[in-house]
Amino acid sequence: MQLDSHRLIVRSRFKGDTLQSHVVQPQAALVDKFERRFSYLRLSITEKCNFRCTYCLPDGSECHSHDGELSLIEIKRLVNAFAALGTKKIRITGGEPSLRRDLCDIISLCKSTPGIETVGLTTNGFRLEKDVVKWRAAGLDVLNVSVDSLNSSAFQMITGSEKLASILRGLDIAQSLEFKSLKINTVLLRDQNAHELKDFLAFIKTRKITLRFIELMRTGDNQQFFNQQHVSGESIQQSLLASGWAERLRSLQAGPAKEFIHPDYQGSLGLIMPYSKHFCHDCNRLRVSSKGQLFLCLFADKHNPLREHLQSDNIQPAIAFLQQSIVQKNSGHNLAEQVTGSTRHLAMIGG
Ligand code: SAM
Ligand code: SF4
Repeated sequence: MQLDSHRLIVRSRFKGDTLQSHVVQPQAALVDKFERRFSYLRLSITEKCNFRCTYCLPDGSECHSHDGELSLIEIKRLVNAFAALGTKKIRITGGEPSLRRDLCDIISLCKSTPGIETVGLTTNGFRLEKDVVKWRAAGLDVLNVSVDSLNSSAFQMITGSEKLASILRGLDIAQSLEFKSLKINTVLLRDQNAHELKDFLAFIKTRKITLRFIELMRTGDNQQFFNQQHVSGESIQQSLLASGWAERLRSLQAGPAKEFIHPDYQGSLGLIMPYSKHFCHDCNRLRVSSKGQLFLCLFADKHNPLREHLQSDNIQPAIAFLQQSIVQKNSGHNLAEQVTGSTRHLAMIGG
């Protein structure tokens, strides 16, 4: 993207498409009524998943085909529209994004979009060992892998998958690829993994990985499970501080995790506590589902249909739609009041 005072040239270098330049007037950034600026897009590319995580899809994926998912060309237009409005970072998620055969093409089209500085992926890791080198070569900058236990039988109980050993080998390969950041996501579960803190700490002692404990979030489908398994990250925070870990100061744009470091550990530890006060104050992210619905919040009731504006190479209608939609964003979620909006599970939109 070259920006001069009069015009913005969005140049597509996506392979398989004819090389084109679209001349687009410079656009205002996406800023909501609360003066929050949105520069981070979480893009779900499928609702399909092959794991059965107890907190997400305990009965497996309802979705068995790729029907209705955004096509590569629709994703390209969508990414161009967000980039024209100041989006700098895109995280590809799902369902399980690595179930899409064109994942490498999606990574490379995001990476080659002018204005996009960082492309990330969140995956359950089942294709990590096999494909991480290809993802890196396609332009992936940051990688989050979900690992809910380091014990293979607990891992299998939580996810329904026997892949832990392969995922850990995949993480070793990923470490050698010099990603800008490499993270593990672990959803904190009272009976299923909360006792593993020591093992997780030992794991990051010699590995340059950030391990993030995510507090279980209530969704439409997991109410009873939530009541049984939710643990606050607060107790982990207290035990970290008591054992020599210090909270790292982070920039406002760094996202909602609190991060802790320790001089004896190569890795760091993060806590994502969506039930804590002020969690939404610095929100910088918007979400788009694999069917092209704009989610202004993970727990919103209604979603804004963006797809119809992605049907031609003219991205102005999509830009106008995003600018009109952003003013509808609320100040925060109402999870504390048990309001989960229309989000039945996070595989619908990628967390
Ligand atoms: N399938 C991929 C994965 O598991 O990494 C990407 C999609 S998944 C929905 C994204 C993240 O959301 C994962 O780290 C997952 O553990 C987390 N997640 C799913 N349901 C959750 C819930 N109810 N509360 C907290 N985190 C959740
Ligand atoms: Fe699938 Fe990810 Fe949900 Fe687990 S958390 S069921 S891997 S979408």
